[in-house]
Amino acid sequence: MKTEHQRTALITGANKGIGKEIARQLAQQGFAVFIGARDMAKGRETAEEFCQQGYEATFIQLDVTDPVSIRTACGTFSQKADHLDVLINNAGILEDHGETILRLNVEMLERTLKSNVMGPILVTQDFADFLAKSPSGGRVINVSSGAGALNDMTTYAPAYSISKTALNAVTRQFAGAFKAQNIVVNCVDPGWVRTDMGGPGANRTVEKGAETIVWLATEAPNHETGKFWHDKQEVD
Ligand code: NDP
Repeated sequence: MKTEHQRTALITGANKGIGKEIARQLAQQGFAVFIGARDMAKGRETAEEFCQQGYEATFIQLDVTDPVSIRTACGTFSQKADHLDVLINNAGILEDHGETILRLNVEMLERTLKSNVMGPILVTQDFADFLAKSPSGGRVINVSSGAGALNDMTTYAPAYSISKTALNAVTRQFAGAFKAQNIVVNCVDPGWVRTDMGGPGANRTVEKGAETIVWLATEAPNHETGKFWHDKQEVD
C-alpha cells in the first residue's frame, strides 16, 4: 500500500506579514509547517495560533544573520523531521530612508546584505541535505522584490534594491548547483503588500502577496527553476 508522505515546509520570518500568510496557506494545504522566527515569544505565539486552528505547526528559533542560530535550527529540525519539501527564504529587512546611491550608508548596506542575501545563502546551505531527501523534490523560494529587477532600477532604497538583485543571482546559482539533487530554486516579487514593511498604503493584501510563492511551493511544474516570478509569470 502506498502511503502519502507528510509534506514539510520551513518559512523564515514567519511570525508576521507575508511569511506568516505563506505558513498559513501551506498549513491549510496539509503541510507540517516550521515557523522560523528570531524572536522566541513571537514565533511561539504564531505556532500556537496555528495549532489551535488545527494545523501542524512547530516553532523553530532562527535568526538568519547568525550562522550559529541557523545551525542550531537545523539540529532542532532534524529531531522533528527527516526531510524538507519546501524552504521559503522570506525573512528580510528594509532600512533605507530616502538615501540615494550617492550617499549610501555602507554599514546599512552591510546589514541589509547580511539579512537579505547571506541569510538565505546560509539557510539554504544548511538545509540542503533535508531538501535533497524530499520524496517529491525539494523546492526553495526566495522572497525577492520588484526593487531587485535590473530592468526596473530606480533610485529608491539602493541598499534594499542591491540586496534583492543579489538574491536573484543567488537563486540562479543555487538552481544550477542543485540540479542533480532534484531541488528547484525560484525567486518571487510579491508586489507591494500591506505589512509592517510595505506600510498601510500598499495595494496588496498578504493573501495576494503570498499567492505566487505558495503556487511555486506546491503547484508550479517542477522543471521551473532559476527564475524570477511575479503573479505566476516569469519576469526578467
Ligand atoms: P515584515 O517586516 O512584515 O516581516 C519581516 C519578517 O522577517 C518578520 O517576521 C521579521 O522578524 C523577519 N526578520 C527580519 N530579520 C530577520 C532575521 N535576521 N532573522 C529572522 N527573521 C527576520 O515584512 P514583509 O512581510 O512585508 O516582508 C517579507 C519579505 O517580502 C521580505 O523579504 C521583503 O523584502 C519582501 N517584500 C515585501 C514587500 C512588501 O511590500 N511588503 C514587497 C517586496 C518584497 P521580526 O518580527 O522579529 O522583526
